[in-house]
Amino acid sequence: MRYTSTRNDLVSVSASEAIAAGLAPDGGLFLPVEIPKLDAGALDRLMKMSYPERAAYIMGMYLDEFTAEELDRFARETYSEDRFPGGPAPLHAVGEHWMLELWHGPTCAFKDMALQMLPRLLGASLRKTGQSETALILTATSGDTGKAALEGFADVPGTKIMVFYPAEGVSRIQQLQMTTQTGQNVCVKAVCGNFDDTQTGVKNIFSDENMQREVAVRGCRFSSANSINWGRLLPQIAYYVSAWCDLAREGKTGADGAVNFCVPTGNFGNILAAWYAREMGVPIRKLICASNSNNVLTDFIRTGVYDRRREFFTTSSPSMDILISSNLERLLRVFAGSDIKVKTLMNELKSKGEYTVGDDVKKYFDELFWADWCSDEETLKTIAQCYNEHGYLIDPHTAVAENVMQKYFTLTGDRTPAVVVSTASPYKFCGSVLEALGVGYSESDDLIARLEEVTGVPAPLPLVRLRDAKERFTDVIGAEKMADEVLEFAAKK
Ligand SMILES: *Cc1c(COP(=O)(O)O)cnc(C)c1O
Repeated sequence: MRYTSTRNDLVSVSASEAIAAGLAPDGGLFLPVEIPKLDAGALDRLMKMSYPERAAYIMGMYLDEFTAEELDRFARETYSEDRFPGGPAPLHAVGEHWMLELWHGPTCAFKDMALQMLPRLLGASLRKTGQSETALILTATSGDTGKAALEGFADVPGTKIMVFYPAEGVSRIQQLQMTTQTGQNVCVKAVCGNFDDTQTGVKNIFSDENMQREVAVRGCRFSSANSINWGRLLPQIAYYVSAWCDLAREGKTGADGAVNFCVPTGNFGNILAAWYAREMGVPIRKLICASNSNNVLTDFIRTGVYDRRREFFTTSSPSMDILISSNLERLLRVFAGSDIKVKTLMNELKSKGEYTVGDDVKKYFDELFWADWCSDEETLKTIAQCYNEHGYLIDPHTAVAENVMQKYFTLTGDRTPAVVVSTASPYKFCGSVLEALGVGYSESDDLIARLEEVTGVPAPLPLVRLRDAKERFTDVIGAEKMADEVLEFAAKK
């Protein structure tokens, strides 16, 4: 299977080259030139498999230079009971629909599903492409990616990882998770500004040829763990296939086998993985795109106008506080059918902060997608309502999707069996959850203990352990300093 760039059809690389590089040289994203298909027989076989077997099977369809043994081993190591106590992707019934719980991994957010796998895929890709330099992973994070990437890459030979997070807008627990990270090859910096400033800084460093030369002199080569890396997106396709298989096995899908997924969306990676699962042949009817007050995607899907020139809100669902949804570019390439068009749109986004797609592109979004958004006030109400009615605790990101799912039910009447993708443990966002439940607390309280005491729901162990962890990384830097910090870290032995 060959991979090309969203911005240049002449680019043709293997899977391992795409994974090793992260971003295409022209600034575009890599995508497979065709999408492999699951026929009815394959879906039948997948239904009988365990999660690691399903993941290896799906990944194998896209990674032909990897052997089945290799991928089986990666999947068994990644999705072990050890790393994912309670299973990697269990479904939990809530009223008439399901929650797909993707936060049973080491950092308690769904990013673990991909970032526990990526170091294995990347390590193998570097070997296969004969790269001898240290892979320097640069990551911009709105909160959850950073920790999940640190946890995935800590002390992995041949790699170094540097994480930048916006000083404004990650939760206290998210911040602690990153500043206490252990490992000899890790570095974490807070950057003044919001996530888009941080992400733009990382993208600029990444595509700067002078920087590429400077890190090469220091024995390193850039690589990315952000959801723009194909090796990040690919493992995510597996849990959509898996969720469908679990429902189908129980006879819980609709009459025609269909289900709907509602996905809390930021960078558009998670919901794009659902789209790939659908294209492969999983009977998914609608993909429901849920945003918080940074509702640039809601407007885009409804109108065809992507306009980032708007007020930026810091919300209770920080991992979705994003105005530039990078992964949308992959879908635009498919729907627009032309690399030139994508390049033009992305240039317009950069220069004018806005672009508009034609009706030919918009019709695809209309057919498959439905979009709405949820305010912070509604988010808190939804957390309270879900807990009071079902005794089920959800985090603010999941609450955004739950709220939009309810809007979808009400506005469309579509009763296709529905799955809300649950992306974080409520214990990662204790402050918001306590507030939603109307429980008073002060900043100096042990919020995890407080939430356990009020609800009786036990907190995940990795978060409980933060209590005794030592903070290692406390710097806050200006965005203009990011490049210097990268060079200093690249040179570090
Ligand atoms: C990253 C993240 C999201 C958004 O996922 P995208 O792939 O960026 O759309 C939603 N919820 C949580 C908890 C996250 O960490």
